[in-house]
Amino acid sequence: MIEIIKLNKSYGSLAVLKELDLIIEHGKITYLVGPNGSGKTTLIKSILGLIKKYDGNIKIDGTQINGDCEYRNEIGYMPQSPSFPENLTVKNIFDMVKDLRNTAKNLDEELISKFNLEKEMSKRLKNLSGGTLQKVNASLAFLFNPKILIIDEPTAGLDPVASGILKDKILKENQNGKTILFTSHIISELEDLAQNIAFILEGKLWFNGTLENLINLTGEKNLERSVASVMLGKVV
Ligand code: ADP
Repeated sequence: MIEIIKLNKSYGSLAVLKELDLIIEHGKITYLVGPNGSGKTTLIKSILGLIKKYDGNIKIDGTQINGDCEYRNEIGYMPQSPSFPENLTVKNIFDMVKDLRNTAKNLDEELISKFNLEKEMSKRLKNLSGGTLQKVNASLAFLFNPKILIIDEPTAGLDPVASGILKDKILKENQNGKTILFTSHIISELEDLAQNIAFILEGKLWFNGTLENLINLTGEKNLERSVASVMLGKVV
């Protein structure tokens, strides 16, 4: 379980997260939604320890994370735009992260084979198509069998086959007990994954509950329309 307790984060005079309380339940898939600029990336970076200066608390399985880095081994992160060293080959990047983690145990290489990345191994990252780069990005996030997965725009740039493979993998790992937090603006494509919706508006948690509850609250027919109606201020 990830507990966010009264999280406040400002950049200069801009208050981005304001007394944000959120519980991301263990073993569930939580869909983090909110308009551009509402603070989703700032929240994710705080959970990952990429942002350290904030007020409030973040606890993972009861342990406060600030200043500690051990817990990060338990988190797989798939960033929206990974910044890989572009002269490395695909094989180099997999070898490099395995070396950094210093473990060859319990590796999950299923996505590498499902995405057929073996045949891309000798190519340099700078020469890959956007979709293939995204496949590498996804495969790295799942590689060390983390207990928690944080995924930013999972299907962006992927073709429908690859997107289906990744969605199936997310569901499979969730069935294996993993906690998954993802965010995306491609709502219609991903709403079937969402067991829980955390809706952030202007740096505050506006809603945390099931898809059915959100649809009931907004009176709309699906998640995409519900989210749009909240963003348009039709629901208060
Ligand atoms: P979201 O991911 O929901 O689009 P972000 O967390 O990226 O929102 O951004 C929230 C607000 O914080 C935006 O107004 C953004 O411009 C601002 N912001 C994000 N990162 C920085 C930064 N490093 N310095 C200054 N302002 C930032």
